[in-house]
Order: sequence, then structure tokens, then C-alpha cells
Amino acid sequence: MSPPTFEIGEQYAATMDARDPLAHFRDRFHIPVTESGEEGIYLCGHSLGLQPKSAKTYLEQELKDWAGLGVEGHFHAKNPWMPYHKLLTEQTATLVGAEPVEVVVMNSLTVNLHLMMASFYRPSPKRHKILIERGAFPSDQYALKSQIRFHNYEPSTSLIELTPREGESCIRDEDIESLIDQEGESIALILLGGVNYATGQYFNIPEITRAGHRKGCIVACDLAHAVGNVPLRLHDWGPDFAVWCSYKYLNGGPGCVAGCFVHERHSQAWDLPRYAGWWGHDERTRFEMGPDFNPMAGAEGWQLSNPPILALAPLRASMEIFSEAGMQRLREKSVLLTAYMEFLLRDKAGKYSITTPCHPERRGAQLSIRLTEGRGLCDRLLAEGVIGDWREPDTYRVAAVPLYNSFRDVYRFVQHFSAAHS
Ligand SMILES: *Cc1c(COP(=O)(O)O)cnc(C)c1O
Repeated sequence: MSPPTFEIGEQYAATMDARDPLAHFRDRFHIPVTESGEEGIYLCGHSLGLQPKSAKTYLEQELKDWAGLGVEGHFHAKNPWMPYHKLLTEQTATLVGAEPVEVVVMNSLTVNLHLMMASFYRPSPKRHKILIERGAFPSDQYALKSQIRFHNYEPSTSLIELTPREGESCIRDEDIESLIDQEGESIALILLGGVNYATGQYFNIPEITRAGHRKGCIVACDLAHAVGNVPLRLHDWGPDFAVWCSYKYLNGGPGCVAGCFVHERHSQAWDLPRYAGWWGHDERTRFEMGPDFNPMAGAEGWQLSNPPILALAPLRASMEIFSEAGMQRLREKSVLLTAYMEFLLRDKAGKYSITTPCHPERRGAQLSIRLTEGRGLCDRLLAEGVIGDWREPDTYRVAAVPLYNSFRDVYRFVQHFSAAHS
């Protein structure tokens, strides 16, 4: 892919929007409005995706069936609730490049991380370490440290953090590989963010997986900022498990049900210890209510509870839109949008720097802008209807999301940003 060339000026943004084959998808979402009733510039899809207009219809259907059918809705709703979560399996598998047996939509992200670690983090005196990136999302750090302690090890000796080189903000691919080469034999689990939440760095999942597996490590990824943002091929890349949430790029709504991938090679690993619940039990005999747990093959065997139908309904609305748009086309637009934003920001260079990698293959939609002046700028922009977010200590994050952001959004954002940035 040769680097795109862009032009300064509003006309160019209008031309790009007119040519954009995905532009019409914007109309399928509610765009937040400012106090004066104007459309805001929403660049926060990395934190909470916007509401598909169709979400309401999906939700209302389930409310209606609950009202009209009560418990019978489990079997006689328009979309029976018993197998409801399976309505999401095919589209989820396609989105993350997995076989249907490898994915399930359940729980929330941190819960899934713990469930997966109960099965896949099996430390021994010779191999007890966990490798993560420095500055991983706090919930992941807490989860990992608590798992280490749960097994009577100490984070100070069992948690290794990949760190950028002095003066750099992202971690170099070769440094990841050499650390795995050196320490791999003592590492039980490698868990990296697919895309780091703070820097926007997109890790090379297939290479890290290969390097980790060569050393006998379990390799996993937290895809919270990768799913729906970059195309994934989890089955081929081969990590042992992956987890993600569905309210960021997937637009499933606040606190929406999360996702989980377990590679097919573990689909019949009946010997793995796991926390069990009735929804993970073989569905053919689930309602015989017997005393012995007999898990389903694949990711579904890790389910605990019957899922929250009202939370799954809006996710279905969004996944329909993803299927229509196609992840590959979304990624093509995303690469352009982000590069365009970077181009305009560099043109207006001031007291800030972009910490996200500039290579399109090492980032998704997000750009992280390091500011010297603190969060005041973020708040001033918010007051003008420009919605990005602030992450301590010094990072302003924005993402132009190809499903609903336009080139004009990006143009207008940079206008506001440079005017507010004294
Ligand atoms: C957003 C995010 C979370 C949030 O966890 P929840 O369990 O969904 O509250 C955790 N980890 C990462 C990497 C995230 O980006």
C-alpha cells in the first residue's frame, strides 16, 4: 500500500466523503448533539461506540415477547431466548476470523479474562511468569496480579512488563521477540493487548504467538481495542485464547456482553480445570438438571449463566451492520481516516506529539496525542462538542471510526483542536 496523499482544506474532506462507499452507514447511528442542537464531533468510539438506530427495534422485540409470553419466551419468542446467544456466533466468528466453535458471547471482559486464566494460567515453580505490556489497561493488571497471588506467587517476581526503549512510547517488535526468546521458558502466559488502549499500538499478534508457542507459553490477547477496529484472523494466528468487550468499536451499548475465543485445539480439552455453570453444560441434556457437569465442546463450554437477552439485543443490531459493511472495507476507510487526521495534525504541529505508531499496520483507528498542558484542552473541546477523551497522565485519545465518522469530522476536529491549543 503506497502512502496516501492528502490535501489541506475543507473542500478535500467533502470530496473524500462524496467518494466514500461507506458514508451512508453514518445515518444508521445516533450522533450525539451539542447543546445548540448541532451534530457533535464524536471521536470516542474507542471508549463507547454509538447507538445503532436499529438497536431500539431489537430491544423492543424482546421486551414485547417478555410482556406477551413470560417464561414461554425461552422457547416461543420470535427469537427464542434459550439459544439466543447463538444468533451472534456466526457474525462474531467472521469478525474475529475464527471457527464458530471457537467463539462465544458471554459475561463481561474482565470476568472472561479470569475464567480463561482459571483454565490456562497453570503456574509451576519453573514456569510461573506472565508477560504483559507496560501500561496495560488497569483492569487487566489487577486481574493478572490477583491471579498470580491466587496461585501463591508474587507479582514482583512473576509479572514481567514489556517496556518501550528510553525516549520511545511504543514497544518495538524485535524487543518483544527477544524478551520471549530470553525468558520464554519461565513464562506461563503471554497476554498482550491487541491494540494498547493508551498508545494505540497494534501488536503483531501472529509473530508474538509464534514466538511464545516456540517456547511453550500459552499466548492470549485482550482485544478490547482491536475487535471491530482491525481485521483479525484468530484461528490462523493461533493464540490459545482471546477476550474482548463489545461496547467500544462493536457498539453493543454500555456494559454490553463481552466476547471470548478459545482456539479449536482446546475445544475438547476436557481435562483443563475450569469454573463451571449450567450454561456451559451440554445443551442437549442441560434441562435434565443432572448433578454432573458435562461441558459443551469449544468456547461455549466456558459459559456460566443464561445470558442477559436485553443486553444482547442491541449487539445484534450492531453486528448486522458490521456484516453489511464488512471488516475489510471498514479497515480500508479507517486507514485513510487516521492517516488523514495525522496529516492535518502534523500540518498544525504545536505543543503536542502523536505517540501512536505512524505505520498503519501497527495501529488501528485511534491516535493518542501527548499534550504538555494537561486535561484542560480535552475539557475545552468537550464544551465545543468535540468528544475525545483524556487518559492520565498526558494523553488525549481520539478515534475516527469508519462506520460513522466522516472526513469532515476529522477536518472539523483538527480545526477545533488547533484553535483550542494555544
Ligand atoms: C475497556 C477495557 C477493559 C474494561 O473491562 P470491563 O471488564 O469491560 O469493564 C479491560 N481491559 C481493556 C484492555 C480494555 O480496553
